[in-house]
Amino acid sequence: MLKKAKFLKLGKYHVMALILMPIILFGAFLFTVNSLIAQETPVAPGANEGNISDLNKQIDEQRKKIDEIADKITEYNNNISKFRSQAGSLKNQVAILDNQIAKTELDIEGKVEEVKATELEISKVELEIVDNQKSIEDQKKYLSAFIRLLDFYDDKDYLSVLLDNNSFSEFFDQINNIEGIEEDLQKTLNRFQEMVERYNAKKEELSSKRDQLSELLNKLESERDSLANQIGTKQYLIAETSNSEKKYQTLIGNLKQEQLAANNAVAAMENKLRQELEKKGTDEEFNNLAEASLMWPTNSRRKTAYFHDPDYPYRNLFEHSGLDIGVSSGTTVRSAEAGYVAKVAIGTKWYGNYIMIIHNNNLATLYAHLSSVSVKNDQYVTKGQIIGASGSTGFSSGPHLHFEVRSGGIPVDPLNYLP
Ligand SMILES: [Zn+2]
Repeated sequence: MLKKAKFLKLGKYHVMALILMPIILFGAFLFTVNSLIAQETPVAPGANEGNISDLNKQIDEQRKKIDEIADKITEYNNNISKFRSQAGSLKNQVAILDNQIAKTELDIEGKVEEVKATELEISKVELEIVDNQKSIEDQKKYLSAFIRLLDFYDDKDYLSVLLDNNSFSEFFDQINNIEGIEEDLQKTLNRFQEMVERYNAKKEELSSKRDQLSELLNKLESERDSLANQIGTKQYLIAETSNSEKKYQTLIGNLKQEQLAANNAVAAMENKLRQELEKKGTDEEFNNLAEASLMWPTNSRRKTAYFHDPDYPYRNLFEHSGLDIGVSSGTTVRSAEAGYVAKVAIGTKWYGNYIMIIHNNNLATLYAHLSSVSVKNDQYVTKGQIIGASGSTGFSSGPHLHFEVRSGGIPVDPLNYLP
């Protein structure tokens, strides 16, 4: 009897504890959760808000300046097309060049302003990232407190997943699977997720802004080269013609002939040599060349005039047949592909000192205005082999490499063949 009573007593206590403990714990849990949620969810006030709005104002001002410059550029472009449509007189050509010079000066001014605007935007994004990071840290503290409670009832270690910054997405996946999360908490979680996403987007924006800036600085360099070219061309025309229309017409006639003759000579030479080499069959190295795949002939990839460039000063007389690469005199020039040196010409009027190399796949490359050459006619070169140095020989308004790619003897756009 006594034994049984003791057992019953103990049993009663046990049952009570079993019933009460979860209720007490759950009550405490709900109380803490509710008091956590009842607090205003902390969102960082943004310590840099003031600086960011200052930067926004400055950026707007820069953009206004850039728009004004763009309007002026349109005016010069209209002038250029107007003069281009008129008769090819010296007066006209000088007017075109004057407008081009003024336009390029504005282009440079516009790029300088754009560089400033981009730098401001970079500073702004950097501040936004700092603020964002702060918000994420605050939100994390708040969520950690909640998850400590949540972990009490669940085996999954949400806390360590949250505290590991690299696994936010894993955290979201896990926590979203918990059933019955309170609506308020869900809102907080969503906000946290948004913050993380915004932070990642800002990081990406920053790196693309930085790319934009370096591209702008490259373009600025090219514009400065173009300006020097245009000024050089104008000076050349005035010096060569002593401002006489008659002399100008003679000069233009000669230039046109020079260009045509140079082009025909190069094409004929290429054709003849290719046939001779092909006739020799598999014993000839030429017939065993690899498939042509061109590389840049200089370390610089700065383009100062394009193939068929609309801004080419003599466009009303002839098209620009190659790509001009902005390099100073004496820069190393390399063969764009393995091939056979078809021609090394010294002191020609049009191309100055130039080298033509023929490759597989009916392609040939031509390197003009060189200051020196280091290969001979009738030799093979490997891809990337040094063949000479850049200069400003022949009809050239300043140091650069004029690089031509010819397919079947006809000049084609080198940019379609370069990586
Ligand atoms: Zn050129």
